[in-house]
Amino acid sequence: MANSGEPTIFDKIIAKEIPSDVIYEDNLCLAFRDIAPQAKTHFLVIPKIRSGLTQLSKAEEGHKELLGHLLYTAQKVAKQEKLDKGFRVVINDGVEGCQSVYHLHIHVVGGQQLSWPPG
Ligand code: 5GP
Repeated sequence: MANSGEPTIFDKIIAKEIPSDVIYEDNLCLAFRDIAPQAKTHFLVIPKIRSGLTQLSKAEEGHKELLGHLLYTAQKVAKQEKLDKGFRVVINDGVEGCQSVYHLHIHVVGGQQLSWPPG
């Protein structure tokens, strides 16, 4: 879907209108397992309020604290998931970055040996 700013499937997940496997939640963000995991462990960390952050490249000065919180949460939940041998954090941005859901999200993948570089 193009970056229209319209509500996405993630708004329904936040509102609990559709089921998801939530593994962490606080007042600012939600972490849940990806429906199509690309590794043994694959979860997403998303802000509860999109506040213009359809994608990373739309970030503004006022988003800095939230961005820090999302990244901090990603590693916190990685620890909770026992990814103690390492993991990867990915943010797909825009068409060439293969972004499909226009509500900022951090992918965390791990639980197995990953390869590099990605495609
Ligand atoms: P993107 O391609 O935008 O970086 O990542 C979007 C991710 O959201 C994909 O990995 C996709 O599998 C995941 N996803 C899309 N729809 C759903 C859903 O309804 N539930 C869950 N748990 N994940 C979803």
